[in-house]
Amino acid sequence: MLEAADPVVYTVRFPSPVSHYAEVEAKIPVAGEKSVEVFLPVWTPGSYLVREYARNLENVHAADGAGADLAIEKTRKNRWRIAANGAREIILRYRVYCREMTVRTNWVDENFALLNGAATFISPLGDLHRPYEVKLELPASWKLSISGLRELEPNHFVAPEYDTLVDSPILAGNPVVRQFVVDGKTHYLVNEGETALWDGPRSARDAQKIVEQNLKMWGSLPYEKYVFLNLIVGGGGGLEHKNSVCMMTGRYATRTRRGYLGWLDLVSHEYFHAWNVKRLRPVELGPFDYENENYTQNLWVAEGFTDYYAPLNIRRAGLSTDAEYLSPPPASERDVQSLSAQIDMLQNTPGRLAQPVQSASYDAWIKLYRPDENTGNTAISYYNKGALVGWLLDTHIRHLTDGKKCLDDGMRSAFAQYSGAHGYTSEQFQKVMSDAAGQDLSSWFHKVLQTTEEIDYTEALEWFGLEFKKTDPPKADNRAKAWMGFVTRAAEGRLLVSQVPRGTPAEAAGLSVDDEILAVDNWRITAEGWGQRLEQYAPGDTVELLVARRDQVIKVSAKLGEEPTKKWQLQINPKATDDQKLHLKSWLTGS
Ligand SMILES: [Zn+2]
Repeated sequence: MLEAADPVVYTVRFPSPVSHYAEVEAKIPVAGEKSVEVFLPVWTPGSYLVREYARNLENVHAADGAGADLAIEKTRKNRWRIAANGAREIILRYRVYCREMTVRTNWVDENFALLNGAATFISPLGDLHRPYEVKLELPASWKLSISGLRELEPNHFVAPEYDTLVDSPILAGNPVVRQFVVDGKTHYLVNEGETALWDGPRSARDAQKIVEQNLKMWGSLPYEKYVFLNLIVGGGGGLEHKNSVCMMTGRYATRTRRGYLGWLDLVSHEYFHAWNVKRLRPVELGPFDYENENYTQNLWVAEGFTDYYAPLNIRRAGLSTDAEYLSPPPASERDVQSLSAQIDMLQNTPGRLAQPVQSASYDAWIKLYRPDENTGNTAISYYNKGALVGWLLDTHIRHLTDGKKCLDDGMRSAFAQYSGAHGYTSEQFQKVMSDAAGQDLSSWFHKVLQTTEEIDYTEALEWFGLEFKKTDPPKADNRAKAWMGFVTRAAEGRLLVSQVPRGTPAEAAGLSVDDEILAVDNWRITAEGWGQRLEQYAPGDTVELLVARRDQVIKVSAKLGEEPTKKWQLQINPKATDDQKLHLKSWLTGS
């Protein structure tokens, strides 16, 4: 058995960072066992995909405290057994290839290192409630390392147990570190890659406003310090932790309104997780099984409600306008930051009629994180539908309590009850919300969570005095536009089908993914020419397509449909009553 008080101590070195390797040495105290088994996680919490981190390891080697080699063998894809032969200490050495630039993986180059615990730190199996230490030996040109972990001295961190170690990514290099204090607690905005392109002071000022808005909503900050690791490296994404976050963003994000709203949304989303999922959590998400999938039906709360609040808190913090929150101009239509964009996305996903949102959560490991060309037909995003369930639940509580209570009250109450050692079950979470609403909501929840019935927006529209903008159907040549409904891609000028959504003329005609459209009505077609060619037809016309499918040339008849109207843009109803205007104001300002 391991002595509970003895820490596992890792030393991480970067002898040749340009080759993208980190070298790890782990000192593991043992108590004289014959053999010791160690493991590396296969996934990291917050990102529901088995990533097989062990595939990036090499030269795994073990010795005893005196330097004598110990035999080591693999017992699983991510486990090793060491013949300890009664040694008091095992020195494990291995190299980690770090060249996957995402928030859940490792990166090392000559400029900086991002280390995620699950991908880096091999631990003895068994009791993970023991201290862990990490010492970093940085290349001479790097000035610092930073993490949500407690720092004993520069480049020397300590975690009380393995969960905290895994939950605290470490950044080392030469980032610009900007600090601000809210409610007596220091927050660090760590900008790796900050150049003259990035507005550092503004990003720190606005991150502070998001923190203050959350303090206003939740009543207190649930940590001692908080670290925003902001990697300005291109790409995107974020991964939440208890007192830190790892985010990736584009270099130009502060230079356009659209880009900046996107960055604020990322900050607001990830920071909200400090409450929702890192503390207030589904019962299945902790203690974690690091070697297998951890299934839960409640990611519609953990991610969906977080997506509901992220842009709303930006609005409430005064960082966006009512119009930007509700319905931004078409240029940013596809960014899921506005409520309209969320509604539009769900209503244009055929999979909403195939998969209830609880199943979308449960199957995250094989569906959302592993999309393919048919995903839109069979699945939905629990972020997307979850955010809308959040909005509808917020409205429903307001309506039932005549505006005295709202989802904020439900979330505070859920946090008070289920943010400790135990998470919530589906029933417990729904009970808290029923209590906030003053009546039993189980049949309401059943419909939105467990069925694929279309969402009814009427209550929300009426409570807040909103309506969907009426837009004319798209036109070409002064008549309704003909429509095939498939998604295509160009390959060296050739026109290829990449998705066949359900309910489209393309599906009815029997077109298939990877079909190459060679000609329309016997005239050659290229990828560039498709849009214009279609304009020569009217809805209802039948076209004959010459198609190359798996080396065979075939003819396919397709009856064109009418391009659907985009009808999911919210606007304020010009006839809204004073009560409705008041409801809208109270919601958007959070007062
Ligand atoms: Zn999230």
